[in-house]
Amino acid sequence: MPTPTEQPSPTPAATAAAETPVIEFRDVEKRFGDNVVLKDLDFTVGRGERVTLIGPSGSGKTTILRLVMTLEELTGGYIFVDGEPLTHEERDGRRVPVSKKHQKNLRTRIGMVFQQFNLFPNMTVLENIVEAPIHVLGRSKQEAVAKAHDLLEQVGLSDKAHAHPTSLSGGQQQRVAIARALAMDPEILLLDEVTSALDPEVVGEVLNILRRVAETTDVTMLIVTHEMSFARDVSHKVMMFDGGHVVESGPPEKIFSEPDHDRTKAFLGAVL
Ligand code: ADP
Repeated sequence: MPTPTEQPSPTPAATAAAETPVIEFRDVEKRFGDNVVLKDLDFTVGRGERVTLIGPSGSGKTTILRLVMTLEELTGGYIFVDGEPLTHEERDGRRVPVSKKHQKNLRTRIGMVFQQFNLFPNMTVLENIVEAPIHVLGRSKQEAVAKAHDLLEQVGLSDKAHAHPTSLSGGQQQRVAIARALAMDPEILLLDEVTSALDPEVVGEVLNILRRVAETTDVTMLIVTHEMSFARDVSHKVMMFDGGHVVESGPPEKIFSEPDHDRTKAFLGAVL
């Protein structure tokens, strides 16, 4: 019998099982017109868990992130953040929208980094980073600026605080976008193909920053990426999607090395 000190510490996933999930999808449906992209989708993400969504193009991965960020309208079912309904709740057996104020409140806990950076082009790098902490969280300018400088140092861009995004390379813009998301101290960080628009030689620097974020913070991450070695390194769980359904999910060593499903094998065979 191992002594207690020999026991491995519980994984975030195992710990999370006993807690309220940070993200829960329950019976989620998303349609664009007649196109049903997600149907009867259920999954949970535990506190501090890093989950990567993989699967062919068009399988609904980005839509899932955009639903969590409330950038898409949920057409059926429920999404919960920290156990609280994000868009709709059930009241007297009916599905009713939550208040805008409640939703805005929950939204402040979620940060997202996009494929196309989405920085404000008319603002400097520093202004991009302090905008939401000041105007959404109500932080003082002094506090927001100090934190922004800290974050710029972490992403290696201390000398670019007063530059405009358009004068930066793609890799630099993406590093600013990561700093901007982290400036809100998000509980949840959504990463949507953050290296897909970058030149191959700068992909590594962006992924290394995200590896460090994963190692040094307990932020919960939901990741869509085609970078399989990054997914393998940082994820606690990988979910393979096809046609809006979870084909299989499990720890990266299982999904990447011994997938159960032919669909997963074919997908990985094509991308690895
Ligand atoms: P993935 O991220 O797996 O490539 P997406 O979530 O981007 O997949 O897309 C899933 C499906 O939803 C696709 O069929 C896509 O055409 C459709 N879709 C996504 N966004 C929209 C939109 N704004 N309007 C209409 N259809 C959309």
